[in-house]
Amino acid sequence: AVSSAPHSAGSIVVGVRVRPLTVSEQYGSQRSLVRIVDDKVLCFDPACDEDLHVGKPVRGPRKIGHRAAKDQKYAFDCVFDTTATQEEVYQKTARPQIESVLSGYNATVFAYGATGAGKTHTMIGDKTTGPGVMVLAMEDLFAAIESTALDSAYELSLSYLEVYNEQIRDLLAPEAHATAPVEGAPTPTPAPGGAAGTAAGGGGGARAKGGAPPGGLSLREDARNGIHVTGLSHHSPRTADEVLELLTLGNGNRAMSATHANAVSSRSHAVLQIVVRERAKTADVTADVRVGKLSLIDLAGSERASVTSNRGQQLNEGANINKSLLALSNCINALGKARGDVRHIPYRDSKLTRLLKDSLGGNCKTTMIAAVSPARCAYEDSLNTLKYANRAKEI
Ligand code: ADP
Ligand code: MG
Repeated sequence: AVSSAPHSAGSIVVGVRVRPLTVSEQYGSQRSLVRIVDDKVLCFDPACDEDLHVGKPVRGPRKIGHRAAKDQKYAFDCVFDTTATQEEVYQKTARPQIESVLSGYNATVFAYGATGAGKTHTMIGDKTTGPGVMVLAMEDLFAAIESTALDSAYELSLSYLEVYNEQIRDLLAPEAHATAPVEGAPTPTPAPGGAAGTAAGGGGGARAKGGAPPGGLSLREDARNGIHVTGLSHHSPRTADEVLELLTLGNGNRAMSATHANAVSSRSHAVLQIVVRERAKTADVTADVRVGKLSLIDLAGSERASVTSNRGQQLNEGANINKSLLALSNCINALGKARGDVRHIPYRDSKLTRLLKDSLGGNCKTTMIAAVSPARCAYEDSLNTLKYANRAKEI
């Protein structure tokens, strides 16, 4: 049951967003794989002849690869149709987190899905399609802070990093990752049989030039700062436009693969973290009254590593992506069983989950936005995403 306050502590709210078919996907009046039933239910691979997406009935018997339609219904906390606006998606997913972050809690929103399903569009967006969740959340934080009483002051600090190849890199300090493979640049070739070991070391020489350690930035944990990344740059943008600029810049710094046309950004997890500190103006100036952290994450593509068409570095990347994504799944599954007890959650299994240790489970509110393509060619990916989202919602 979902009320206007869908979040109880420790639970995960799951929304699914179906992107529109692209012009080329519509070619030959391809049917949409997903039919939206209502704002909570969708049907995958519908058997019915009426296609609400394309808007015209399909004539004749349906025979696609001699396989009967799955005609499978799934229910989620919210389902977003292809016509859903950025604002609507934001209102139902991240908006409810803002209040709790201002009250000193940690909250996380992540976009999950295969490459091309609409994760980055949802999380960042752009000037033409409209700003995404990350920008809209910042806008609301600005507004909330402006309207607060005079006896306390809020401070915002933003960081944007990626977990790529199990290394943490600052997306807003480009000099720190001189080794990011550039389109057309030669890719370092790992020695046969030593892919895992050489991936970090292989780029080490060039990376040292930029000042970042060969293994990427490191994660630390202490009582004062909690979990933090040493050497990560922190920013204080003042307007939503500044935020969108920072994010667009940062996204341009995401690791890309020189050899695989479709691989831009698809192997890295982009993590935006906003720390909100409230200080009472009257009390001891050094004392934080409340500290809340909002983590907004554009995950790496969830498509299987076996699709990887290359050797060496690319295989290693695939393996490492699975490591962070797999660890995230494992943590989410474990949280479902732990009922609030976070002692046995395997946060330590990957960089991403270590980073999110204080932001997943416990008192934290988590929202997952599963991005789904309705194109037939994305059948397996979309089905896998729906299954994953369906499991997460039971938490
Ligand atoms: P991902 O980050 O999951 O790989 P993108 O967000 O880059 O996918 O989306 C792939 C393409 O589809 C982009 O060109 C994007 O602009 C477009 N797109 C994705 N979602 C939507 C949407 N809801 N409405 C319109 N276009 C979309
Ligand atoms: Mg993307």
